[in-house]
Amino acid sequence: MEKARALIIPAQNRLEFTELEKPGVRDYEVLLKVKACSLCTLDRRVFLGTRARQFPFLGGHEVSGIVEACGDGVVGVQKGDSVILTSAYCNQCEMDRTGRGTQCINKAKEPQRVNFNGFIQGGGLCEYLSVPAWQVIKLDPAVDLDHAALTEPLACCIHSINKGRIRLGDTVVVIGMGIMGYFHMKLALLRGARVIVSEMDEARRQKALEGGAHAVLDPSGQDLCEEVRKLTGGLGADVVVNTIPSPAVWDSAIQTLAPYGRLIAYSSQDSKTPIGVDFGMMHSREIEFIGTLNPTIEDNDMAVKLIAYGLIDMEEVIDGRFSFEQGKEAFAAAMKPGAYRVIIKY
Ligand SMILES: [Zn+2]
Repeated sequence: MEKARALIIPAQNRLEFTELEKPGVRDYEVLLKVKACSLCTLDRRVFLGTRARQFPFLGGHEVSGIVEACGDGVVGVQKGDSVILTSAYCNQCEMDRTGRGTQCINKAKEPQRVNFNGFIQGGGLCEYLSVPAWQVIKLDPAVDLDHAALTEPLACCIHSINKGRIRLGDTVVVIGMGIMGYFHMKLALLRGARVIVSEMDEARRQKALEGGAHAVLDPSGQDLCEEVRKLTGGLGADVVVNTIPSPAVWDSAIQTLAPYGRLIAYSSQDSKTPIGVDFGMMHSREIEFIGTLNPTIEDNDMAVKLIAYGLIDMEEVIDGRFSFEQGKEAFAAAMKPGAYRVIIKY
């Protein structure tokens, strides 16, 4: 029996190397040999126990690789193609068919990508995966596979930017300059917006300025709403994107919106406590609240193009690269405060 190496989280604060059975290739599926897997915030949170998931856990959903074999019926890719892995869209539900695949209703019913007695989210921390052909996107062979592994987080931000309907000359406030804040800033700039970044960390504020932010502010000493009004002739921001899981920012984020402003709830929120919202104000100022989660297949397609065309410098968000054998060191590096992304390479 051929084996596939995997790095699993058997319990909170534990990592373990294991060998799983190398998956076979089924009809309409491709066997993917993973080449690069980035450690996402979710993988880190599951490891730390701050995000509840069933153990043992096999993570890794920011993945690029090479097609090793194709099952019967596969038409879009062939052996040797480099690809990225998208989310587990079934491609058969109404959500997927109407451009709303982020809410695919059959995610939990998908066949396992590799035989693993536990919970799989992505699975890129296993060397081989068998996935439906419509869940991969073929890359130009010249594209760097480390960069391509970051398609999914970039595509998440594209989904968000698209929902925010950013126009030329809009003022966009990005709260938080982690990797997601960074991608939002870059994408909003590509859309012709002016970006103001709110971030506590000085080094990250500097990174925002170097990356093209019009202005930065420190929310520990400056009032977001007041500062943004100074820069917008009193009107406020056209779009505010919140990329941090802190309930404390919502009030000022809402107050910072201009009439017709759109507030994007991007980050997942650890707190489930509702905040009070004045819907009379929402009505009279004609503001919108927009939730956004994950990317659709179309967003992934756009992200692949931005990476392939060099429109976003992906090196800016890669802090380190580790071999699969150094997987535990890779997790330790990803856990360091201020880290954006760490890549594990097979
Ligand atoms: Zn579906």
